Amino acid sequence: MSAAAFVLAINFCVAGLFVTAFTVVAVNARIATGARWLALAYCAGLVNFGLEIILPLQSDPRPLGIAIFMVFLLALAASAVGLARNYRVDPPWLLLGGLLIASFIDIVLIYDMERNSLLRGLLYQAPYALMLLIGALVVLRSGRRHVLDLVLLAIQVLGALHFLGKSFLAVALGSGANAQAYIGTSYAAISQAVGAVLLIGNGILMLVIILRDTTTEMRAQSETDPLSGLLNRRGFEDHAEALLAAARRSGVPVSVVVADLDHFKAINDQHGHDVGDAVIRSFAQTLQDAASLGTMTVRGTVLGRLGGEEFAALAPGSGLHSAQLFAERVRTPFGTRGLISQAPELQPTASFGIAQLRADEGLFDLLRRADAALYQAKRTGRNRICLDVVEAVSAPASADRRQVSRRS
Ligand code: GH3
Ligand code: MG
Ligand code: MG
Repeated sequence: MSAAAFVLAINFCVAGLFVTAFTVVAVNARIATGARWLALAYCAGLVNFGLEIILPLQSDPRPLGIAIFMVFLLALAASAVGLARNYRVDPPWLLLGGLLIASFIDIVLIYDMERNSLLRGLLYQAPYALMLLIGALVVLRSGRRHVLDLVLLAIQVLGALHFLGKSFLAVALGSGANAQAYIGTSYAAISQAVGAVLLIGNGILMLVIILRDTTTEMRAQSETDPLSGLLNRRGFEDHAEALLAAARRSGVPVSVVVADLDHFKAINDQHGHDVGDAVIRSFAQTLQDAASLGTMTVRGTVLGRLGGEEFAALAPGSGLHSAQLFAERVRTPFGTRGLISQAPELQPTASFGIAQLRADEGLFDLLRRADAALYQAKRTGRNRICLDVVEAVSAPASADRRQVSRRS
């Protein structure tokens, strides 16, 4: 057995292992949609290595030689689609399809050219290099720039260069007088060995990237409340603890605003559960708007739905006064008539309690004081904001709307 045939057999086994690994990932982590394409890519690799092994036995190597070329190209194409799926960008189907067709015409035309000519070598390897550059383009288009993504990008580009470099190596070392003789050459041994490094490096890297992305996504899902899109209690507590720790280190003030929808049970009873859900979504949206829109942690403000119709916003860098302004930016628009399309006449309201973090106080105690202020807002008429401060300040207007008071 030649050295190249030996490495080829190893590559065959390695490809088989990656087929198994990516299939297991695809079956068990449905959000890892790129894994099935990578399983397919390594499956095509497996077929390719199998065909390479039987090629020397052929009397006419042309059909099998062309098949080997195309199957390996399909493996790289499937890998590029897998990358695109994993990086949440649209696979460049047109580019991939166009390259596959052009490559088929290319291989049919060049197959019988002088084997050891540089031109044939370049025309043989260029489709592979281009396919890897499409993979690199996919990673670039994703905009992801963490170290693992950059390493993957580098592997795609290095892989492309390696294919082009092989054309020169083939001329220097000779790739065999005919296709059957290829496997016995030292060029084949080097080519297969470098291929093995790329095969293993790319496979392991993709597995690690998929692991990273699925755990990040699963964590985000486990922290998110699906109805409101805000953090759930667990997510809120995790993010809030981190925010409090950072605030303590830097000494900036932090306030929490807790809110509870008024007479929500009656809304459910009179208008139905779906309208109740719409009110919850509307309140969450108003909170996000007030925190300048966007994701759950807008400008450092942590927004969460702590329970049924209870919400909290933790704002770094804000004392009682700016937290009160924030709450007012939520309270006022939320009560606007027509906000809930299913019940346009509905004018839901919410009550708010605010407390500012004290030195050496934990999240639990901070929320407890804000809850006490919220209770005061409920007790004194609802649809109002109460602050947890020592001195009592009389409430302004007695009308139900636009109320701000302070808890003694
Ligand atoms: P208060 O003004 O004192 O806060 O009274 P309330 O009626 O808002 O408070 P209560 O605690 O009596 O009722 C809360 C209701 O919220 C009871 C529960 O059925 C409803 N609820 C909890 N989670 C959801 C949800 O996800 N969707 C809907 N539609 N209702 C919910
Ligand atoms: Mg409640
Ligand atoms: Mg309520």
